[in-house]
Amino acid sequence: MSVDELKEKLLQVETDAVAELERADTTVRLEELRLEFLGQKGTLTMVLRGLGMLSKEERPPVGELANRVKERIASEISARKEHFYRLELERRLSGETLDVTLPGTGLALGHQHPLTLVTERIIEIFYGMGFSLAVGPEVETEYYNFDALNTPADHPARDEQDTFYTDAGSSVVLRSQTSTVQIRIMEQQKPPLRIISPGRVYRNEEINARKYPIFHQVEGLLIDRDVTLGQLKGTLNEFIRVFFGRPLKTRFRPDFFPFTEPSAELDSQCPFCLGDGCRTCGHRGWLELLGCGMVDPNVLKGVGIDPDIWSGFAFGMGIDRLAMLKYGVSDIRHFWSSDLRFLEQF
Ligand SMILES: [Zn+2]
Repeated sequence: MSVDELKEKLLQVETDAVAELERADTTVRLEELRLEFLGQKGTLTMVLRGLGMLSKEERPPVGELANRVKERIASEISARKEHFYRLELERRLSGETLDVTLPGTGLALGHQHPLTLVTERIIEIFYGMGFSLAVGPEVETEYYNFDALNTPADHPARDEQDTFYTDAGSSVVLRSQTSTVQIRIMEQQKPPLRIISPGRVYRNEEINARKYPIFHQVEGLLIDRDVTLGQLKGTLNEFIRVFFGRPLKTRFRPDFFPFTEPSAELDSQCPFCLGDGCRTCGHRGWLELLGCGMVDPNVLKGVGIDPDIWSGFAFGMGIDRLAMLKYGVSDIRHFWSSDLRFLEQF
């Protein structure tokens, strides 16, 4: 083949390619054409094989033309691709308009457990009366759990049937009350003291609707000069009023606790029936809410506080029970169920 013939062929390939590319209507077709013209067995390659028949002097101008044709076809292909891409983008943009009025998918956030909510509410109320927060260990020695709290050696609470003893030694127990924190604070700080101490406690009890081996208590302690039973009553009446959101009658029934003297059980008028009697209060009109009393001078002496100068009161209540009353929960086991149908109600 002569130089002129080859040049003519190359120009013909160019013309054909450009015409075909213009007619191509998909990117798939573009790829087919790329192979057809520029591929290893493509038209252009075939024509270029004819270069070998030419003399050294004849080759350069033909090679130059071949390169120009190749570049032209390649750039034509990418221009068409770009064109298709833009068309596709425009089609999508007009078809898939963004509806900003659609509700968002949202992220499900958890919330606090009802026992935590009630604990924080209790802390908040006592903060308002000048108490500060104190916490202590859940694994305790018998000394803090019983001895320092004036509990006699033969007291039934020490029985293994009531208290969980650990393998760490016969005198290491899971605390059965939060009063342990009172002792620790009285050892570390000088009076006057006003502390509130919520936390988990453990008792070896059979599980039923009202009892669970793990529960929560909040304990309060006030030590100052000339503390009276009237101040204890006033503090607790105010707490009950704020907690239940209305003033309620209260009554103190004499009771016994080793670390207070005198000791009392505080009943409040039932906040649901206001004394008329309902299911919650067992038709008595009263609810047993908490234990309290004046700190026994022996307890003060034991931690090095002079009972002739200082006196105080202490109280303790079950957070689970208060939560059950506040939210109308009939079974304490719900708090441990991890059942979202229950937990999502708070
Ligand atoms: Zn009632």
